[in-house]
Amino acid sequence: MIKPRKHAPGGLRAFAAGVYSSTVRTCTECGQTKPLAEFTPIRGTPYFHGRCKACRARRRWELENPGLRYDGRDYRSKAWHAGRVRSARADKREVLSPGMRRCLDCGEVKTTDAFTPIKGKQACYGHCRACRNKRAMERYWSDPNEREKLIQRSRRYRERHRTARK
Ligand SMILES: [Zn+2]
Ligand SMILES: [Zn+2]
Repeated sequence: MIKPRKHAPGGLRAFAAGVYSSTVRTCTECGQTKPLAEFTPIRGTPYFHGRCKACRARRRWELENPGLRYDGRDYRSKAWHAGRVRSARADKREVLSPGMRRCLDCGEVKTTDAFTPIKGKQACYGHCRACRNKRAMERYWSDPNEREKLIQRSRRYRERHRTARK
């Protein structure tokens, strides 16, 4: 059996011209002979990839998930996608007692009182007050402009208070 090389003169051409049947192909990876529909066409050429779709999917999966073992699931199947979407939703909709939320920052579950509501919305910020304060403090100490702004704000607040008391 001739193993065609991508750039070998005549290799793929001969290959496409019918060294193999034009309706089935043998995958260079798993060695199985499969219908042409199981192979991905090479864009812009009349040729097909040497590896079948299943093998290509596995290779892609292994590249994206280094160190993990591919278990042969069909990652393009509707059932798999549905399951994935379902589990992603379940993750988001984490079962927490009513009135409880998990902070996206510290990851602690706290009562919704611990979160700042977003103005004009029925939602709260994803970060708890403690984390938001911590971030504000970090900004305060790392950004002189921010510090100046806050100092000005509290000075104005004090002045307003003093005049109001008079
Ligand atoms: Zn294969
Ligand atoms: Zn937090």
